[in-house]
Amino acid sequence: MPFKLLLATRNKGKITEFRRILDAVAPGEIELVGLDEFPELHDVVEDGATFQENALKKAREMSRATGIPAIADDSGLCVDALGGDPGIYSARWAGSHGDDAANTAKVLDQLRDIPDAQRGAHFSCVAALYLPDGRSHCEEAHFDGWILHAPVGNQGFGYDPIFRPDGYDLSSAQMSAEEKDAISHRGKSLRAIAPHVITLLNSLG
Ligand code: IMP
Repeated sequence: MPFKLLLATRNKGKITEFRRILDAVAPGEIELVGLDEFPELHDVVEDGATFQENALKKAREMSRATGIPAIADDSGLCVDALGGDPGIYSARWAGSHGDDAANTAKVLDQLRDIPDAQRGAHFSCVAALYLPDGRSHCEEAHFDGWILHAPVGNQGFGYDPIFRPDGYDLSSAQMSAEEKDAISHRGKSLRAIAPHVITLLNSLG
């Protein structure tokens, strides 16, 4: 019987991505269920000061509410010239939650006088696992790159059209999902946490 693991998100794209990565590390060992199986649960308020606090809070609250182990992630874009902003505020940088076009336009505007050499940035992602017995594990990973002067490409989401991964001559919105997974903050943090998920779930017996 596979272990049941709750992914604390209603985002279908994330569920597919988590499933693909966990399955590659431990084929058939984990049955990943999304929050759509628990429509009565309220969204967790992301009021932590760091990606780790937010990711762990999501996993902890969902695990406590359902009684099953839960995994969550929190991510964002950190721009050097903006002192690490938008950071944990990435999804709502321009005001309303999830307005990708407005968020990217705001970052481009804030960087309009900043030369190429000072346009360094990275995406960060923390993946967090929480077990009903109180044990937890987190893994953080970065995806380094540069902020472009205008959006390019139509793959991905969020800030992808204005982010050029270090060592590449294209934006992350011009990469295939597989190409981005292999080097992205989310891909790396999920692959890093996957063996810990297996070990901790096995220890539950
Ligand atoms: P969350 O982890 O779902 O809270 O995402 C936070 C926000 O960070 C997203 O809404 C995006 O604006 C941004 N973000 C996180 N990861 C990526 C990525 O891989 N590409 C582009 N934007 C991202």
